[in-house]
Amino acid sequence: MKTHARVVVIGGGAVGCSILYHLTAAGWTDAVLLERDELTAGSTWHAAGLLPLFNMSYATGQMHKYSIDLYTRLAEEWHRDVGFRRVGNLRMARTPERMEEFYTYATTADTIGVPYEWWTPKDIKERFPLVNVEGLAGALFHPTDGYINPADITMLLADAARKNGAAIHRKCDARAIERTRAGEWRVETGEGAILCEKLVAATGNHAQRTAAMVGRSIPAIPVEHQYIVTGEIPEIVAWRKAGHPEHPILRDADARWYMREERGGLILGPYEKGAPAWAVHGVPEGFRAELLPPDLDRLEWHVEEAFFRMPCFAKGGVKMVYNGPICYTPDGNPILGCAPGLENFYFAEGFSFGITAAGGAGKYLTQIMTEGEAEIDMLAVDPRRFGPYATRPYAVRKNEEAYAHVFVPHFPDEERPACRPLRTPPSYDRQKAQGAVFGQRFGWERANFFGPKPSEDPNFKEQWSFRRGNWWPYVKAEAEAIRHNLGLIEASTFGKYYATGPGVDGWMDRLIANRLPQKDGRVQLTHACTPRGGVRSEFTIMRDGPEALYIVGAGAAESYDWDYLTRTMPKDGSVQLQRITTQCGVFVVAGPRAREVLAKVTDKEDLSNAGFPWLTGRRATVGMAPVRLMRVNYVGELGWEVHHPIEYHNHIFDLLEEAGREFDMRLVGMRAMNWLRLEKTYRAWGTELSKEVTALEAGLDRFVRLDKNADFVGRAALERQKASGNLRWKLVTLLIDGPADADPWGVESVWADGKVAGRATGGGYSVHFAKQIALAYVRPEYAGEGRELAIKMLNRHYPARVVAESPYDPVNERLRADAIKRAAE
Ligand SMILES: Cc1cc2nc3c(=O)[nH]c(=O)nc-3n(C[C@H](O)[C@H](O)[C@H](O)COP(=O)(O)OP(=O)(O)OC[C@H]3O[C@@H](n4cnc5c(N)ncnc54)[C@H](O)[C@@H]3O)c2cc1C
Repeated sequence: MKTHARVVVIGGGAVGCSILYHLTAAGWTDAVLLERDELTAGSTWHAAGLLPLFNMSYATGQMHKYSIDLYTRLAEEWHRDVGFRRVGNLRMARTPERMEEFYTYATTADTIGVPYEWWTPKDIKERFPLVNVEGLAGALFHPTDGYINPADITMLLADAARKNGAAIHRKCDARAIERTRAGEWRVETGEGAILCEKLVAATGNHAQRTAAMVGRSIPAIPVEHQYIVTGEIPEIVAWRKAGHPEHPILRDADARWYMREERGGLILGPYEKGAPAWAVHGVPEGFRAELLPPDLDRLEWHVEEAFFRMPCFAKGGVKMVYNGPICYTPDGNPILGCAPGLENFYFAEGFSFGITAAGGAGKYLTQIMTEGEAEIDMLAVDPRRFGPYATRPYAVRKNEEAYAHVFVPHFPDEERPACRPLRTPPSYDRQKAQGAVFGQRFGWERANFFGPKPSEDPNFKEQWSFRRGNWWPYVKAEAEAIRHNLGLIEASTFGKYYATGPGVDGWMDRLIANRLPQKDGRVQLTHACTPRGGVRSEFTIMRDGPEALYIVGAGAAESYDWDYLTRTMPKDGSVQLQRITTQCGVFVVAGPRAREVLAKVTDKEDLSNAGFPWLTGRRATVGMAPVRLMRVNYVGELGWEVHHPIEYHNHIFDLLEEAGREFDMRLVGMRAMNWLRLEKTYRAWGTELSKEVTALEAGLDRFVRLDKNADFVGRAALERQKASGNLRWKLVTLLIDGPADADPWGVESVWADGKVAGRATGGGYSVHFAKQIALAYVRPEYAGEGRELAIKMLNRHYPARVVAESPYDPVNERLRADAIKRAAE
């Protein structure tokens, strides 16, 4: 066995073999794969092999698309039949609502370039008469989907990697992992130790055990998944004998199953409720290429539905039931990328569609490992999207839920119920009593909106929809309250960090593209870029002394930002960094009357423009609480953020509520905040701001100081881009004449001249313009102000006009009206 390699991949399933292949194809040929058993002996050998191209997520959609292209190419290059059958995929809908889900899928598919067709029940009957179309509303057909033999494609990837120079050691298990003093990884195996520079864990259902070897815990826990294989079915055999095409993969979304042909019979794979997590505390040592005992009772309803939709299915009998562990994560996406806090260690775990995703996972992880970043935004799969809240018990329940939800309609405003409430601010019960309807993000409960008080309407229940849910009028009233009067937002989930020490300026200046605030109390919006100029983080930074910075970032980015900040900190002890998110709560008081209400509760503060200018902050008191007031907000009105020690949270909440009563202040949730930020073209981390687009493409020019003294990460790339003027995308704000009862969600395709010109990243309703509004990335030639475009919503194109940045209050008069007036005088 080799004792040294540049890179070691642990795990010889589809994912590990694909990573090995891509690393070697990128020139990293000194690569070794360790497999404890035989290649494919994990989940890969018993997968049904479906390659569902489509996925609601832009990132995983691109991964899947690449996989299919790769498998086609490799099979051709190697002249090998890997069982790839491009039969198409027919998603059938029983209800108009399900069709709306498909419309929402389809508009994202446009942005990735995945082809699709709409079929009526008549189309289905004409083409595939064995399908009973009774009760169908329609169907979405993906012609390029298909299925493959998972073992054959894995072996092909392994052979291609071997040909490129990789070594594969079978029957060789990684038993322990440690970091050497020299900074290498040492993997202890049954066959001896191997040292490497970079290490990848692609261990399928063993993910937890592997992560524990490096002191990490990841929420990748398998759930039982079953499929039934029938014997030959006379109708299917006769259909094919007559020269008809193979049936596409059928998906009866409302019956929650998939079906495909298999040797003259059919395979039926249901996603049932109640499928349990398996091997919660780790896969038993002796478990090899085995299956779990089947549980047919759980499948009964789905089988009956299959009899109904495909009556000949009943004639095949049950030849075999596969019950295998399928690895899940709380949101159903894999865990792919840098392991938090570990240099040169990468996770490629938690794949529930691993055959489909393997190709793309290999490609993009290789880019991360060899070039530092992937060319696409990988946030949806980044290991750091989870925080310490994603414990094992959490993952068990959430993963079971994710599995059971595969075919549950994916409403864009859906909030799934498992593990809630989990992380709550102290005012949670108070907000609830005021009608708060919460959503969960990063484990936190955050009010999405305030409906009727439970004391007034105890039966109010939020209804999700692809159109405007029953929450819409409440959100509209909240947004209007902020624009015309006064609103209070609880925003304690922001990520908060405190950095001190003599090295703090030098360190931060190198990370961010903007200048650091110099004067005490100055506040600056800043962005940390990637070496390619992409946007990885957004921080609001307040100067808190010559060697102290108070740093606020996106709440859901907390693990991600913390990992980056701690990785980049000087190793000489010149910076001390604390993560203080949970020690520090935040309220936002915003609206034209914000000054009046705050004046009532602060002690002798001069809140005038002269005394407390926009983009400044200071220590103050609210009631008896010591706080940090910052004159910034994310809704584009006069307003202050009240950052406070968490133990004063309810004291401040009660005071502000009391003080706001005379102004008719409204509690405001996240959905209204989202609408309002769109009117100001405020970008959001994770949607408009991502590594895939550069800071210049995101239109952050005024926050990118190419002339500042300190060099910063991404500067060279941004300088080059600026000099060339070569932008691939431009962020635009669109005002839309849309349907009467629906708004964009930020996943839609944007069209010009009959072609896809870009994609929306944020969407909602503008109370100021009384129209739908969206932020979108479009090709630069379509980005001119006044350009008429179209946005595709619910399968129709609606006129969308490019408007100037920050269409509401473009010169920020509302934020700093007096200051501007004075300057003009
Ligand atoms: C019934 C069923 C049907 C499915 N159908 C589909 C489908 O139609 N389409 C689809 O895309 N996906 C499907 N899946 C999911 C798919 O099987 C998995 O997502 C995929 O196989 C995951 O591949 P992997 O390489 O991540 O993991 P695995 O295939 O499990 O490979 C991990 C490997 O790591 C090895 N290993 C673990 N620990 C160590 C160690 N310490 N040292 C050395 N080696 C180690 C294991 O032996 C194993 O071979 C299905 C799953 C099930 C259960």
